[in-house]
Amino acid sequence: MAKYKTHYEDCDVLVVGGGMAGTGAAFEARHWGRDLKIICVEKANIDRSGAVAQGLYAINCYMGMQWGENQPEDHVRYARNDLMGMVREDLGYDMARHVDSTVHMFDEWGLPMMKNEETGRYLREGKWQIMIHGESYKPIVAEAAKKSADKIYNRIMITHLLMDEDKENRIGGAVGFNMRTGDFHVFRAKTVIVAAGGASHIFKPRAVGEGMGRTWYAPWSNGSAYALPIAVGAKMTQMENRIVLCRFKDGYGPVGAYFLHLKTYTQNANGENYEKKWYDQTKELVGEYIDHHPTPTCLRNHAFIQETMAGGGPIQMVTTEAFQDPHLETVGWENFLGMTVGQAVVWASQNIDPKYTNPELTTSEPYVMGSHATCSGAWVSGPEDLSPPEYFWGYNRMLTVDGLFGAGDTVGGSAHKFSSGSFTEGRLAAKAAVKYIQDQKAEGIKVSDKQCEDFKTKIFKPLETYTVAQNEITGGTVSPSYISPIQGLQRLQRIMDEYVGGIATNYMTNANMLKRGLELLAWLEEDLENVGAEDLHQLMRAWELKHRALTSQCVTEHTMFREETRWPGYYYRGDHMKLDDDNWHCLTVSRRDPNTGKFSLEKVPVYHIVDENEKKKAS
Ligand SMILES: Cc1cc2nc3c(=O)[nH]c(=O)nc-3n(C[C@H](O)[C@H](O)[C@H](O)COP(=O)(O)OP(=O)(O)OC[C@H]3O[C@@H](n4cnc5c(N)ncnc54)[C@H](O)[C@@H]3O)c2cc1C
Repeated sequence: MAKYKTHYEDCDVLVVGGGMAGTGAAFEARHWGRDLKIICVEKANIDRSGAVAQGLYAINCYMGMQWGENQPEDHVRYARNDLMGMVREDLGYDMARHVDSTVHMFDEWGLPMMKNEETGRYLREGKWQIMIHGESYKPIVAEAAKKSADKIYNRIMITHLLMDEDKENRIGGAVGFNMRTGDFHVFRAKTVIVAAGGASHIFKPRAVGEGMGRTWYAPWSNGSAYALPIAVGAKMTQMENRIVLCRFKDGYGPVGAYFLHLKTYTQNANGENYEKKWYDQTKELVGEYIDHHPTPTCLRNHAFIQETMAGGGPIQMVTTEAFQDPHLETVGWENFLGMTVGQAVVWASQNIDPKYTNPELTTSEPYVMGSHATCSGAWVSGPEDLSPPEYFWGYNRMLTVDGLFGAGDTVGGSAHKFSSGSFTEGRLAAKAAVKYIQDQKAEGIKVSDKQCEDFKTKIFKPLETYTVAQNEITGGTVSPSYISPIQGLQRLQRIMDEYVGGIATNYMTNANMLKRGLELLAWLEEDLENVGAEDLHQLMRAWELKHRALTSQCVTEHTMFREETRWPGYYYRGDHMKLDDDNWHCLTVSRRDPNTGKFSLEKVPVYHIVDENEKKKAS
């Protein structure tokens, strides 16, 4: 390992991941900590990294409080409804009350916002969404982070968090390696904000073979946001709440602008409104939740899945009516050009002109995310003015490890943040992290050279393994003493797909399947000690895989724990097919013991703060 240089950097605030939340964190940390040293470390290059890399066509979370369009309470009710009751309302409210100020800054920084010509307000796509010309969204927020941080490190993958050796359960920094030079980087930090996105490719994707990598979610989001905290014993929440998206088939082009702005609608192959057909059956499963407005996303998926299983597919989006209007036709195409060019290419390759042919829709493989329509992620403290005692331990967005903060997809319990809400949450986390330092909570942190050197040996081991084991290759890539990252990834994806509710079983699982899945995941974990990497790129793949595998264990443990089907359409527990509010109207929280690797799970009350407060005011 001597051949790889070690670099040390000491700082106050370390931001891991420079996506939407990470750039927000770097920006805000500078505002409150003028004299602090702020470092941001990114696996790719922050100008084009994360889920927003390619651009977006809408900012999906904007209240419009200045015009009385929506209030934070409305957003809490909306997210609560969509998640079948299971959200952290303190976190959601806190994000919503600050998100407009974030969007106004984007406007000032030059993000082209569409305006409603009649009212002069931002052009609404839907109740929460405003439309943008967002091809340059990511470079614009990256510039703010670059101007704020002391240094941005691109092309460094963070693989492990460092812990303070003086005080138990306190953070000490992070380590990783540069994927171009192979240099080993140690960041000793007083606080760490993890903002490393969600997890794709843990379930087998629909697109395999030549199409591999074509997923709805960013293929490079590998669950570091979850694996890094899980590995040091931070508590996680709602990890069973994986997301399944209904999108245009094969290209996964977005449907939001189509439904909301173009007013297109779906039908089965016979031109019928299939959602109505499944109303009674869904009511049997979830009771009055099916009567809520808007219909929770998972329940719309449920009707889609049931109709397809009953032979009513392919399900189509009716575009042929809206596309007769030249303005709407332009919006329909521009929507893809701004964020999913690939969908336009897929349609061209399949001879689909949506003006004359209604394109097919599909449901995706599941992903793990905390900022979109689901809320998997870390269990964090809320803000002091809103959070009940179970949800508050001193610093906003601090995990259950002292000095470790999270934002965006990292944070659980608070769905529907999207790009603007994730940036906002990064700001909230950074403000609290600076306060933690100013309150002298980060004094005397000890990180020994030994802790760092041990990680160095561990991180580069896959290169060593390959160097030795390549001599035993019997044919192609087959070797008795190592597995390659792609072999390990495909094995992981099959386990998750077949046992934990992926597409192979139409999202169905049960306790016996989950138990078997956990056994297979444990053996995979053992074998991943022998993953081999032939170069630095494969070394990154090896560590991405290890992070995905740990995330998967946590997802499976949570899915096993929640003995009900809370979100039909995201997954089904065949042994507990009904939603069970009597026993499971609660949040699930897990902790993995870093010494034994064993998970323990508990139920934590879900507090409906918004309407409770209103009831109190009224009485
Ligand atoms: C397909 C898609 C469409 C979407 N459409 C919209 C939309 O129209 N409007 C909207 O408002 N929102 C949209 N969103 C949601 C929005 O993109 C996310 O909410 C937001 O990007 C989450 O921010 P984040 O910082 O948590 O994650 P990201 O923005 O994904 O950033 C995570 C960052 O961490 C880096 N990273 C990961 N692992 C490591 C590691 N180990 N070490 C160092 N760096 C690491 C990544 O490279 C990345 O830069 C969409 C999301 C997706 C996936």
